[in-house]
Amino acid sequence: MTKDHRSLIAGNWKMYKGPSEAAAFCAELREADLGDVDVVVCPPYASLETAVRSLADTEIGVFAQNCHWEREGAYTGEVSAPMLQELGVYGTIIGHSERRQYFGETDESVGRRVAAALAAGLHVIACVGETEAQREAGETEDVLRRQLAVLEADDNLLIAYEPVWAIGTGKTATPETAQEAHAFIKSLLDLPVLYGGSVKPENAAELAAQPDIDGALVGGASLDVESFGTICRAASDS
Ligand code: PEP
Repeated sequence: MTKDHRSLIAGNWKMYKGPSEAAAFCAELREADLGDVDVVVCPPYASLETAVRSLADTEIGVFAQNCHWEREGAYTGEVSAPMLQELGVYGTIIGHSERRQYFGETDESVGRRVAAALAAGLHVIACVGETEAQREAGETEDVLRRQLAVLEADDNLLIAYEPVWAIGTGKTATPETAQEAHAFIKSLLDLPVLYGGSVKPENAAELAAQPDIDGALVGGASLDVESFGTICRAASDS
């Protein structure tokens, strides 16, 4: 099925690739065949400036992995939207499940971060998704409803559906399971929805072929230009 808009493939590098590795990766990425999709990379803060510089004059965007709601202040360890923009960063991920699981991110703080980033003019990928226990207890829709309740539709906002049980585990949601969740999300908020959770070259095409899957947020497989490029081309052909 051909979609009426380009898919977006975002590579979440998590806490991998300092500036020198980032520069080498971006130099390789510039030369890669990425097909006809929008592509962004999300390096750790320390490598954002390098990535922006290395990818200047390409169509590949650079996103951060988080962003605080205040412009400045006594918030040790945090970074604000104006600071990211000064570096040339185009957008940010917010509410990744690793932030929720390990760093106390809540629906409320996700809502504040998203609103501030959008108000400052950044594009945002807001992540939602249920844990394995929540899915098994039949709570998936309730969890998604609660996580989405803090968000409002915006032209610069995308949702990433990332079932927590599929992130970094090698367990991917079946295309049907992902499609069902994406359709549910769109029934609540009419926005593009990326799928995330062990997307790899082998499963990217069948996921991208689902009518309500508008791209992918890729973790592990985005750290290698060859596998990331293969995922981009697979989505491009779907
Ligand atoms: C992610 O980091 O958003 C992610 C989906 O990771 P992985 O692709 O490694 O499961």
